[in-house]
Amino acid sequence: MDATPEALEMISSTLPQTGTTSFLATTMTMSTQSIDNALHNIQDHATKVSGAEILGIHLEGPFINPSKHGAQDAQYVEKGNISLIEPYMNKIKMITLAPEVEGNEDFVKQLTLDYPDVILSLGHSDANYEQSKESFKWGVSHVTHLFNAMTPYHHRAPGIVGATFDSNVTCDIIPDLVHTHPTILELTYRMKEDKLILITDAMRAGCMKSGVYDLGGQEVTVSEGKASLADGTLAGSVLKMNEALRNMTQYTSMTLLDAVNAVTRIPAEKLGIKKGALKAGYDADIVIFDEDFSIISTIVAGEVKYKRG
Ligand SMILES: [Zn+2]
Repeated sequence: MDATPEALEMISSTLPQTGTTSFLATTMTMSTQSIDNALHNIQDHATKVSGAEILGIHLEGPFINPSKHGAQDAQYVEKGNISLIEPYMNKIKMITLAPEVEGNEDFVKQLTLDYPDVILSLGHSDANYEQSKESFKWGVSHVTHLFNAMTPYHHRAPGIVGATFDSNVTCDIIPDLVHTHPTILELTYRMKEDKLILITDAMRAGCMKSGVYDLGGQEVTVSEGKASLADGTLAGSVLKMNEALRNMTQYTSMTLLDAVNAVTRIPAEKLGIKKGALKAGYDADIVIFDEDFSIISTIVAGEVKYKRG
């Protein structure tokens, strides 16, 4: 959201330390002008960064439900509106939205029709079980940071989580042991298996020390591996990609191979890109790490972008 080439370069050149070879530049709910500036900046500069590759844009907001805004600024939430993002659709790969908001059914159906390759993801949403299932029929095929900023999993009202568990949509989860309890990670893995993707949801303090930072115009305090707003709301994470793997293999029954797939092959297939497998015709993105998940080297498109000193 800084909307500068320097900010993109800072993210791109830092991420290889964590074993990240490519990522979606993710915007959040701010004023229309701020979002437009950020999208414009990514469109112009995404291919010029020197470290991890920018695969495109994940628009997380503003088309969400203000009641589940989390750390997104609720005053800037908008109803689905293709004209706001149309100039950037060549770069937008994923949109997190709340399908239950009035007008968003048409928005989802129109996007599915006009941009079938864009991943539409249910998130920051108050949809109930039935509304969630219905949205999967319209074209929503993924769920963003399952359990966080959505209707909870209640035995009489299974909500978004229940709908995710009994359908074949993919979902992602933040395995930092702060956003979700280890038993929830295990449950989700058992229910979703190869439909589960691990994400960091990292904000700007990722790879930085504890302190006070800005996230989408709001003040965030980072301490003891937790990023939160003044009222205690979780505000993104400071999780690193290699730590996500370590946590899943340590706290759940996920094997190393399955954990690696959940950050390589599975998201790459979801995005429809030739990454996530070591074979001819695929990008030479390779991460070498030790038994403690400490990164030894990170190779992006055949070039070493990080090497442990
Ligand atoms: Zn979020």
